[in-house]
Amino acid sequence: MKKQKQNNNKNKKKISIIIILLILIILILGSIFLLFKTTNNNEEQEENEITYTELIKKMDNGEVEKIEMTVGSSAIKVKLKDIEEEKSSIIPNTQTFVELLQENVRNGKEIVFEQKKPSVILRIADTLFSLLPTILIIILFVLVIKMQGLGDKGKIYGGEENNETGVTFEDVAGLDEEKGELIEIVDFLKYPKKFQDMGAKIPRGILLCGKPGTGKTLIAKAIAGEAGVPFISMSGSEFIEMFAGLGASRVRKLFEKAKKISPCIVFIDEIDAIGARRNGGSGGDSENNQTLNQLLVEMDGFETNETVIVLAATNRIEMLDKALLRPGRFDRQINIAAPDLNGREEILKIHAKDKKLAPNVNLKEIAGDTAGFTGAELSNILNEAAILATRNQHKEIQMQDIDEAVKKVTVGLEKHTRIISDKDKKLTAYHEAGHAIVSKFLPTQQDVKEVSIIPRGVAGGYTMYKTNEDKYYISKTEMEEKLVALLGGRAAEKIALDDISTGASNDIQVATEIAKDMVTVYGMSDKLGPLFLKTNDPYEMQIFGENMEDIVGIETKKLIDEAYRKAQDIITHNMDKLEAVATRLLEKEIISAEEFETFFQN
Ligand code: ADP
Ligand code: ZN
Repeated sequence: MKKQKQNNNKNKKKISIIIILLILIILILGSIFLLFKTTNNNEEQEENEITYTELIKKMDNGEVEKIEMTVGSSAIKVKLKDIEEEKSSIIPNTQTFVELLQENVRNGKEIVFEQKKPSVILRIADTLFSLLPTILIIILFVLVIKMQGLGDKGKIYGGEENNETGVTFEDVAGLDEEKGELIEIVDFLKYPKKFQDMGAKIPRGILLCGKPGTGKTLIAKAIAGEAGVPFISMSGSEFIEMFAGLGASRVRKLFEKAKKISPCIVFIDEIDAIGARRNGGSGGDSENNQTLNQLLVEMDGFETNETVIVLAATNRIEMLDKALLRPGRFDRQINIAAPDLNGREEILKIHAKDKKLAPNVNLKEIAGDTAGFTGAELSNILNEAAILATRNQHKEIQMQDIDEAVKKVTVGLEKHTRIISDKDKKLTAYHEAGHAIVSKFLPTQQDVKEVSIIPRGVAGGYTMYKTNEDKYYISKTEMEEKLVALLGGRAAEKIALDDISTGASNDIQVATEIAKDMVTVYGMSDKLGPLFLKTNDPYEMQIFGENMEDIVGIETKKLIDEAYRKAQDIITHNMDKLEAVATRLLEKEIISAEEFETFFQN
């Protein structure tokens, strides 16, 4: 979907560039033409010309035999009696001159007066060039308006319309309950009359909540596909990117269009971009409010006979303005979670359909290794695997291609070309060995799958853990031990090398975020108890007393300190193992799960 949008934008850009080039070419040709015309005139004048006063005199004296003039031109040709050649003259005002001529003729002076029309081509070109500036201004104007999406006649610029999405529920793997809930919407769209006759109110808005890539757009398209109705979509961020005042008008146009083609599905991606809680204020905020208000007006303004169902996607429902969630608006919410083990296998199956897989490829195993991955990531993995297989000149996609693709998607691409100093290598080896050994002594933590000091993406090395279990709940002990495992790298650096490095920055960030959530979201701080405190609103914190924020900070720090102490403890008691694993890493750069286990057998 995103790609299509990019293409649209690219096409639009191309067209604008072509139009601008055309305008330039016309301008250049025009100036050449005008230049040519004037120089021609000049030449004639120099050759053989008489002045206006001379001409009048000669006319009065009866020396002029014939005068030829061209309509719209101030240059005339004069044929004098007794002289063979013709002369030319420039006359200041044609109208007065014509009158003068007529008078001359009336007075009996013999002058043949020929009024010639210029050639058709010349005339057309002349008019065209006199109109050119106006035409250019009009073209530019239209261009600007089109770019801003003001002057649309039923088309939604920047938006996307898809009459036949071609997507059905079969293309959406897992999500069985969600599909079950949404099948009803398909019926509403298919047989609106049936429901209306029964007096049932058709739902207006449905909010799909979930991480990016979990298939929210896909399922919205599938509803349209199943019902055989058009699908029009737009992203919340697109409304906001608009020039001032245009967001609201875009919302209005989107819904105008939807009503025209009803029954249909309107899909608004990233609705939090428009629907973020209003907090008054200035500039972008009030612009945002206008867009949001328009959306609310549109949601309320449906007639009962218009079957337009609005689906909106967000990952941050708590950010949304409460007004959006009121009855008659987005009053239904469906959570789209990352797929579980079965779901992942199903998704892999769907995306493996069009790929050449070797017979030994085991999708169930891959599903087991990819807990927490979204549908988009899984489809990405298979695609990366196909690319790797092609690059490695395999006839089919091998398991090793897929393993490599999983690593590429999770940790980044291997960087063989990066030159690493021995000092950095040593540091990485101790750091990664630290993670691996510390987690070995933490019962709740997963087994090590691979330890490596080959740089990937931004990481200098990595420790990968096996994932074979989907959990809905994580216990406090497990979270505490996760903190210990995360800080194992830093602890090993400190104890083995007596120095610490920037290499642990990401571990520290992740650990701090987990600790903060433990205190403010999951109510796991002994001192604070089960309170939800994750808010940006200072007033909400104040109801608990003046220094609530301080206590949150102290409690978070306590969790981190305790975890770091525990990590150092494990390292100090297992220095021999740390040395052994780090040394092996420096030799081989990579240690498999089996090899890692051998360090703990004696
Ligand atoms: P979202 O809108 O939630 O960010 P998308 O619907 O755009 O996610 O999903 C991106 C892609 O990931 C889809 O086009 C599809 O290829 C794949 N995908 C995601 N979820 C699923 C699923 N449940 N079944 C099959 N493919 C999926
Ligand atoms: Zn680390």
